[in-house]
Amino acid sequence: MTEQRVLVVGAGPTGLTLARQLHRHGVDVTIVDAAPGPAEQSRALAVQARTLEVLGPRLANALVAQGQPLRRAEICSGSDVVATLDLGGTPTPYPFALGLSQSALERTLIEDLRVRGVHVLRDTSLTVLEQLERGARATLSHDGATRTEDFAWVVGADGVHSTVRRLAGISTAGGGQDRWWLLADTRLSGPGVPAHDTGRVFLNPDGVLAYLPLEQGWWRIIATGSTEPGRPELSLADFERLNERSPRPVSIDEQRWMSAFRIREHVADTYRVHRVLLAGDAAHAHSPLGGQGMNTGMQDACNLAWKLAMTLRGDAGPALLDSYEAERRPVAQRLVSSTSRGTRAMLASSPWAVWLRNRAIATALSFDGVSDRARHALEMLSLSYEDSAIVAQLRGDERTHGEGPDGRRRRELRGAASAGQPVRVTEPPVAEIIDRPAHTLLLFDGREKTRDGYQRMRSVVAEVASDPYIEAFVVLADTAALGRAGDLAQCAIVDVDRSFTRTFDADTECAVVIRPDGYIGYRSDPIVPQHLRDWWAGIRSGTHGIPSDGS
Ligand SMILES: Cc1cc2nc3c(=O)[nH]c(=O)nc-3n(C[C@H](O)[C@H](O)[C@H](O)COP(=O)(O)OP(=O)(O)OC[C@H]3O[C@@H](n4cnc5c(N)ncnc54)[C@H](O)[C@@H]3O)c2cc1C
Repeated sequence: MTEQRVLVVGAGPTGLTLARQLHRHGVDVTIVDAAPGPAEQSRALAVQARTLEVLGPRLANALVAQGQPLRRAEICSGSDVVATLDLGGTPTPYPFALGLSQSALERTLIEDLRVRGVHVLRDTSLTVLEQLERGARATLSHDGATRTEDFAWVVGADGVHSTVRRLAGISTAGGGQDRWWLLADTRLSGPGVPAHDTGRVFLNPDGVLAYLPLEQGWWRIIATGSTEPGRPELSLADFERLNERSPRPVSIDEQRWMSAFRIREHVADTYRVHRVLLAGDAAHAHSPLGGQGMNTGMQDACNLAWKLAMTLRGDAGPALLDSYEAERRPVAQRLVSSTSRGTRAMLASSPWAVWLRNRAIATALSFDGVSDRARHALEMLSLSYEDSAIVAQLRGDERTHGEGPDGRRRRELRGAASAGQPVRVTEPPVAEIIDRPAHTLLLFDGREKTRDGYQRMRSVVAEVASDPYIEAFVVLADTAALGRAGDLAQCAIVDVDRSFTRTFDADTECAVVIRPDGYIGYRSDPIVPQHLRDWWAGIRSGTHGIPSDGS
């Protein structure tokens, strides 16, 4: 069915994740890449906790098995340790940043796709793109020959110099920084090498030097270079010299990759024009400070895939797809500005500015609240969509939805398990249940266990039974409730260890809908079938009021 196919241009981390997620949602996906094979370059080095969560336990565990958890970050200035950030203790099964080279991550994603029967078409470049009334026509060039194919949607995951972005006429606001950053993947020895679960960053007046752990005993060295216009020619001797920024000796025993890059900072003006979408570096680029770039692209993919799958089949209105940009573009904008500020602070060189910066870091991180926020931000656990027009919440007689007049009320009601928040998947039974391509509807009987409550659950379960996009479970507080639940027992989870109750703060009767990308899309306390019905109908028909071009 040509008209239902999606073309993903680019098989970097974003395109591979998108192809995987689209395939999970049953979409016929074609993925092409101009390069002859997977990237050999190491590039990004950290997979953050939230990315592992949204990929689901099976793939996350495969990545964790290969990588090196980074559990502590030390910020130093010369021989002084300015501050230490402990990455443990966050509410996630992955309380660390996973040190894993981008090439190893891509190989794992490619293998996962291969097992699903999806193969990257290599050496295949998109060269021409034409919008059609109900799709887009792509000209693909392979081995000197070109062919033209029609797709329902085309997604540009083709990196920072995106051809798709250019051909779709999407401009980007932003620029770049002059300074070169130098990278090398090495094996290190000597008294100055940190413990292998620790990253160390020197913010010295003569430049930055960082040692960050990678898989299998490798270390990434990152250091600031010059602002000369030409790309520097790099040799091992350059990195041996840069190691002198560490007060204690560090030697390079082996090196497998080195590179230089300059920071680009931009966000695409829009993430969609008619049938063409952008994701990953094609949509945004920023300083690699904090290792968020690749992760942001992969999370774009998880946000987009389910929305595109429903839209493609005509099972959702265009407003659902519009929520992709509404939810994800502000994330990129915030990242560009925060990483830009952070990078400039790192580069301070005057003694006064260095002193001020170091004091500010040390003082801020000495407060538990600030270091908690820094930890959560680094692991990307604090991201939420509570202002999104497609999430809704109802508590008692308080109705909250989108940016409307109720927005303030919703914020007052906000809690860890509110609409728009990521699900804290620390409990394995919860992780198992929500790892599905459909929305997961959990109906909690809570303390009340009333006859009316079970009746409300029964009516909701019956209504969604034939809907392929939502799967309902009744969460019973104990086995004694099984009798009262009657025929609901067939879709019941008995929460014997209270893992569901804890995760969703669900001691009383409530309904929680978890989106396929692991965020709470809907919550009501207690269950109000009509409210839930209206919200779901809004998702299906796109009446949530975001402006759309109607395509
Ligand atoms: C030297 C370097 C170091 C970095 N270090 C870090 C880091 O430490 N942490 C971090 O988070 N990020 C880092 N990044 C950024 C990170 O690599 C990117 O954010 C990430 O690769 C983005 O993934 P993507 O899939 O969106 O794009 P890319 O990885 O750029 O993939 C785009 C793909 O599209 C293909 N393509 C391009 N044009 C076409 C076309 N016309 N037709 C078909 N295919 C096409 C390309 O061949 C490529 O495979 C680094 C980047 C560089 C260059």
